[in-house]
Amino acid sequence: MKDYALIATAYQNTVRIYVASSTNLVEEARNIHDTWPTATAAFGRFLTVSAMMGLMFKEGERITLRIKGDGPIGAMLVEANHLGEVRGEIQNPQIYIKYDEGPKAGKLNVGAAVGQGFLHITKDLGMKDFFTSSSTLQTGEIGDDFTYYFATSEQTPSSVGVGVLVDVDQHCLASGGYILQLMPNVTEETINHIETLIQNIPPMSTLIHEGKSPEDILHVLASGTEHILKKHDITYACHCSKDGFSRSLSALDEETLHTLIHDDGFAEIECHFCRKKYLFDKHELEHIRIQRKKA
Ligand code: ZN
Repeated sequence: MKDYALIATAYQNTVRIYVASSTNLVEEARNIHDTWPTATAAFGRFLTVSAMMGLMFKEGERITLRIKGDGPIGAMLVEANHLGEVRGEIQNPQIYIKYDEGPKAGKLNVGAAVGQGFLHITKDLGMKDFFTSSSTLQTGEIGDDFTYYFATSEQTPSSVGVGVLVDVDQHCLASGGYILQLMPNVTEETINHIETLIQNIPPMSTLIHEGKSPEDILHVLASGTEHILKKHDITYACHCSKDGFSRSLSALDEETLHTLIHDDGFAEIECHFCRKKYLFDKHELEHIRIQRKKA
């Protein structure tokens, strides 16, 4: 089954809801970055919320999201766009931490792996208009951190739920999430109703693993009042190209370029987002250098 997201209104147009299934996207990210279970869960949750957020934007706009925590994972970065495409990088992918004790004993401890720090979101609205806003991480569990971000940085009371289930063989078994945003005209009654509902809903990864579709989950979150506005595929996609990296090479200083041409005789560049490797031979490097001199 393909990953996709639904955008809907509910409760008589007073609540906006995004729901996504993202199992394949997270599994692809795991394969590319060789993430271990706790990193798969943290990065997968981050990618899932980012994919839904990307759908809030228009063509030509995109967002870059950064989570910088003091936990062993280090920094994570995700880029998202209006097509539901995401790509990202993670500093330390090989992290596997579980809760030792308490009610969550044996479960992946995403909060400890991410740690304390900040969530930074930069919106590129085209025409060189950039806006960055930041908020402090609340628990490092990602969902709570985005809930806090929307409330403080965007003044939109929201609830974000996201979960990734990792199998014993380490592959991603199920992943999904929702963003529920209250519009200014929402009633006190609806708010109370939603609060109770969210407290009692099973984790997103459990629902997806049980075979529930985004439509099923939306139906529960909206208590049957949903009106679907849009259904959109979400994917892990990187559009890097050799042309793009040749531009990066031409931005190198003369000494570095000289060393690459005369000492190494080649340059191999790996894309941080998809791990694809691009090889530039001596002839191509010379060409980049000559073209640069002309410019
Ligand atoms: Zn790439």
